[in-house]
Amino acid sequence: MKPRIITRKQLSELLDRLAQEVCLYAPVRDRTGTSWAKISRADEVCLEAVNTVEPAKGFVFPRCEVLLRFDPQGNPVEPEPPPEQVVFGIRPCDARGIAFLVKFYTQEGRTDPYVKARRQKTTLIGVACSRTAPTCFCLGVGGSPQGSEGLDLLLVDLGDELLAEPVTDKGEKLVADLPAAGEKHLTAAAEQKKKVEAEISLRIDTGRLRELLPGLYESGVWQALALTCVNCGACTFLCPTCHCFDVTDETIRGRTVRCRVWDSCQFTLYSRHASGHNPRLDPASRYRNRIMDKFYYTVEQAGMVSCVGCGRCIISCPAGIDIRQTVRKVQDAK
Ligand code: SF4
Ligand code: SF4
Repeated sequence: MKPRIITRKQLSELLDRLAQEVCLYAPVRDRTGTSWAKISRADEVCLEAVNTVEPAKGFVFPRCEVLLRFDPQGNPVEPEPPPEQVVFGIRPCDARGIAFLVKFYTQEGRTDPYVKARRQKTTLIGVACSRTAPTCFCLGVGGSPQGSEGLDLLLVDLGDELLAEPVTDKGEKLVADLPAAGEKHLTAAAEQKKKVEAEISLRIDTGRLRELLPGLYESGVWQALALTCVNCGACTFLCPTCHCFDVTDETIRGRTVRCRVWDSCQFTLYSRHASGHNPRLDPASRYRNRIMDKFYYTVEQAGMVSCVGCGRCIISCPAGIDIRQTVRKVQDAK
């Protein structure tokens, strides 16, 4: 698919049109920083922040999703299919997070119809990062500030114009009428990529971690690492790849619904069995689970490290725990 060029004016017109036709979501400025919101006009978009406070995973795996409703006789009724939606301004790390979730939940043997349906109804328009935050390390875990994995269309901001690189047919359809990018545009995008990548120094040897982690299961390193963790779960709820959920039946004003809600392996009750036994009662075993899951279990299960280097867990941890330091300490553990 050919890279194309879109002017700022044309992009605004495209977003204004999409807002009329489908549910259009984009980062907007609010009291908490930059959050995802449904917009009705292009000028509501705010791309100033490197990333949104919350990840974009909710567009395919919502924080609370109704799986079934029950009629007054107690018979289950399937909910309406999800609406067509376009997500504009998603960063490459978040798009990789969505690619992971889709792979994890729809790969052979574990087809999740809800995640599958939402991804099919969603168009993801990414905007490459033209700067980074000190907590970004996408490059260290196989991503890139200009990565297109998981996206339908990637835009690279070149000033007055943007390079538009279609990734899928959905993306191609959005920009098919635009002029092809010239050599000068491709060179400018490549230079920007080099500059932004140079801002990210950290590299994590994920292959080595995968080899090390099974042997460190009983290591005392987890006790030391979990000493300051308060088990608040912020790191998991804000992570673009964390994928655990609970299912509950809720009756509100006489109507019963079955919901799927995000859960966190950092909560004490998360792994408690019906018998009352809890195999992860101590904080160290829960902390170990999170790191093993990111760099070992999901590699075994879905062939992908489930950390995209967005840095949200570093920013949000009230105890100041930094996953980059955790990885270093794990690699040095005996
Ligand atoms: S583990 Fe932390 S840095 Fe990695 S993807 Fe999750 S929130 Fe981002
Ligand atoms: S955000 Fe920090 S304190 Fe809270 S559960 Fe995660 S590691 Fe522990």
